[in-house]
Amino acid sequence: VALDDRLLEILVCPACHGAVEHKERRNAIVCTACGRRYPVRDGIPVMLVEEATEPPGAPPGG
Ligand SMILES: [Zn+2]
Repeated sequence: VALDDRLLEILVCPACHGAVEHKERRNAIVCTACGRRYPVRDGIPVMLVEEATEPPGAPPGG
């Protein structure tokens, strides 16, 4: 499922407001700044910090 490029342009990471990329093979939205990964459900990106998968090796406490 391809997401609308215009939709991706307006999406930002809710945690750090960085730019995000759609990883089609993982069916996820990944923040290019902090590395958090957001799920895509039924073609809809779930841009919620509490739904995000934090990247391995993230510094504790930010
Ligand atoms: Zn981020």
